Amino acid sequence: MPTHKIINRWRNLQTIHLLLAALIILTTVLLVWQHFGMNTFLRFDPSHFKKISVNDDREHINGKSISRLTTSPDFWRLDCQLNEGYRAPYCSLDLDLSLGEQGINIDNYDQITIRYRYPIPNEQALLMLVNFNPVYSTLDDYRSQKFNEVFLPSTNEWLTSHLNGNQFNVASWWVAYKKILPEWTINEFNNVREIRLATGMYPQQQQYQIDLAYIELSGKWISTHNLQLLLLVLWGGSAACWLIAELRRAMRALHRSHTRHADLENTQRHLKELNQLLAERSMRDPLTLAFNREGLSVILANEQPNTPSSIIFIDIDYFKKINDNYGHAIGDQVLCLLTQHIQQQIRPSEKLIRLGGEEFVLLCQHSALAQAGQLAEKLRLWLFSQSWPTGTSLSCSFGVAERLENESFEAALHRADLALYRAKTAGRNRVEIAEEE
Ligand code: GH3
Ligand code: MG
Ligand code: MG
Repeated sequence: MPTHKIINRWRNLQTIHLLLAALIILTTVLLVWQHFGMNTFLRFDPSHFKKISVNDDREHINGKSISRLTTSPDFWRLDCQLNEGYRAPYCSLDLDLSLGEQGINIDNYDQITIRYRYPIPNEQALLMLVNFNPVYSTLDDYRSQKFNEVFLPSTNEWLTSHLNGNQFNVASWWVAYKKILPEWTINEFNNVREIRLATGMYPQQQQYQIDLAYIELSGKWISTHNLQLLLLVLWGGSAACWLIAELRRAMRALHRSHTRHADLENTQRHLKELNQLLAERSMRDPLTLAFNREGLSVILANEQPNTPSSIIFIDIDYFKKINDNYGHAIGDQVLCLLTQHIQQQIRPSEKLIRLGGEEFVLLCQHSALAQAGQLAEKLRLWLFSQSWPTGTSLSCSFGVAERLENESFEAALHRADLALYRAKTAGRNRVEIAEEE
């Protein structure tokens, strides 16, 4: 693996370790903080809260009890004269938390602390959290709200009592009065519009007094349940992010490897083509692109056995003079042009080979002597009729031989060469057929 990749990998690992450490530290800090701190309070006392009033049973039929409120800096006092009349006489101290239908969501708090004094022996005060729920509550009927209540013992001295939601019960008279369905008979504190502290049931005497120093709601900014949920989301989210990042990295690696594989295949194909090209080139004469001797041996090696074939030996007449009179470059052009002219006239099975200098051999596979002789004559006339860079006409001499059964190529070529020699000596620009030896 290259060094920069190892360094990158190492950096990624470091980042993951750092994030993991940060996550562990954050979790620990949140858990400890939530346990020992993160407190939130809502306090109702005479110096902070003014929406307090007293009530009594005179609002009901035959009600005759009389309540009176005294507010001192440290506490509220309810003086109550309970009189017979209403079937359940009472007086109460009411803390109004409402804003229309809206109250306070006490679910967010863990504890209710109340400091009170109720110096009536063998009696109980009643603390009520009055909750509004539009399902069964209406604003014009106070008693349509749910009464979550708890009984508090009487006390001559100030008593601070800590309560939690589980200690409250839904008032049974309310369930009976509202004919409420069982599913609604559980405590609800999510919209408390009033806290009511009232004289208890079954009163024994006429004069009552309740002192209330404060009611305090306390809880955590983040509840244990919410914190657990938050941590779960944090860890789950981080794990999911890490998994996605890993998946993407793997996909990228896969893509890279696919690309590399495709590149490799491409290179391989190019090399193969290059190889073929080089092999092809090595069989060709670089000047005329006719086959060379190497090409000839490949052609002969691939020859079909027992099929007739002929050889036409071609030699340009007085080529030396062209070089001498027009220069070597023009001589080269003539060689190239001659190759092109011959290639135009032959079949794919007939191969033109430059033996060297201005000497060519045309290998006519599947051609008997007569056919080869005709082709040689055709080529002679064709070449003679062409125009050449010298501005003059050009003639060639031809020696034609058919390759006899079991005769080697060299032997047949030798006979074709002899025929060519005869053509030269007979005046050139002619075709001579080889004799059998
Ligand atoms: P003949 O009619 O008897 O065949 O005479 P000739 O001049 O064609 O034959 P000769 O063998 O005397 O001369 C061949 C010349 O071909 C000699 C050489 O300079 C020339 N030659 C050989 N190879 C090349 C080549 O690649 N390019 C050029 N321009 N000339 C070449
Ligand atoms: Mg010649
Ligand atoms: Mg020659």
